[in-house]
Amino acid sequence: MKYVDEFRDGQLAQELAQKIKREVQPGRQYHLMEFCGGHTHAIFRYGIPDLLPPEVKMIHGPGCPVCVLPIVRIDSAIELAMDHGVILCTYGDMMRVPGSRKMSLLKAKAEGADVRMVYSTLDALALARQNPEREVVFFAIGFETTTPPTAMAIQQAERLGIKNFSVFCNHVLTPSAISTILESPEVRELGTLPLDGFVGPAHVSTVIGSQPYEYFAEEYQSPVVIAGFEPLDVLQAILMLVRQINEGRAEVENEFTRAVSRDGNLKAKRIVADTFEMRREFEWRGLGMVPYSGLKIKARFAAFDAEKRFTLKRRSARENKACECPAILRGVKTPRDCKLFGTVCTPENPIGSCMVSSEGACAAHYSYGRYRDHLAADTPSNLIQKSEA
Ligand code: SF4
Ligand code: SF4
Repeated sequence: MKYVDEFRDGQLAQELAQKIKREVQPGRQYHLMEFCGGHTHAIFRYGIPDLLPPEVKMIHGPGCPVCVLPIVRIDSAIELAMDHGVILCTYGDMMRVPGSRKMSLLKAKAEGADVRMVYSTLDALALARQNPEREVVFFAIGFETTTPPTAMAIQQAERLGIKNFSVFCNHVLTPSAISTILESPEVRELGTLPLDGFVGPAHVSTVIGSQPYEYFAEEYQSPVVIAGFEPLDVLQAILMLVRQINEGRAEVENEFTRAVSRDGNLKAKRIVADTFEMRREFEWRGLGMVPYSGLKIKARFAAFDAEKRFTLKRRSARENKACECPAILRGVKTPRDCKLFGTVCTPENPIGSCMVSSEGACAAHYSYGRYRDHLAADTPSNLIQKSEA
């Protein structure tokens, strides 16, 4: 398949891995954070850590929208479904994320709430048209990638005069999260989270472009390479980061030129700007309250804002104490550091959000990483072929 097969070539992967090994400077460490859950998934799926020299360490960042949503927002969605009698629609992964007291939307559905899985915002709009006597709420989550379709649904609902549709908006913004990580005490003061460069998001960057990352590169002197999700994309991005670090450069480079431009998708950015505005702050699992990191629906579209339409309880919720998701999302710990990993907590029985989405670090680690000892005996090209089998 075009743009897929040529980016999974085992021979080329070996050559890139050799180049990285040759260019890594002895005695120097390269701590690279992949922000995006899609990269975490690809890194584990294709056994990329086994191809890298020990000097290059990949650190998983908070880039999965399912993983970073705090429990209070999940509890509010469950409340909408259970106490307000709405049809609550959302994407599949969100149904399994545990809220307080191990409750999830899936369990709420089992207890009689009307929770429906949808594949797009248009499915949710169609449900509203088919059920004019019911309130239909779309539980919207995601980074900049999924924000334009939510904006389109709101604008279409207004155009079509659909009165029983609203959105519970949980869209968050990537650049503010990267700033928060770079400002965190672990990075700035304690030095417990060394960060030498970022593999920048793929899908997100198709919408926002590469320009927003220029600020970090300059302000924090941190190299960024935007990369696609195939194994050769990731390896090439790592090589580009190693070169920047060796040469003392801190620039934004774009490996994913087949999909990302500097300015991004202007049409998508325009409809988002027309429909949403910044929240003063928004809570992220693992990062806490992050200033100007979430979107809310503009007053002009208040009729479609579920938070205005329904009175939701003000809540506080505590994480499961044994779950290390918050530290994993900050890059401070790895799934292996969690006592529950692979025993109490598995993809079939997720205790924390990082085990729910396939982009979550724990789920990716569980699905592919647990066989690493066995895989390490294989050649790099075998790894790539096997992962596709
Ligand atoms: S949706 Fe795409 S861009 Fe967003 S976190 Fe997942 S993989 Fe990354
Ligand atoms: S393994 Fe489960 S409990 Fe542990 S950090 Fe990951 S999601 Fe949380």
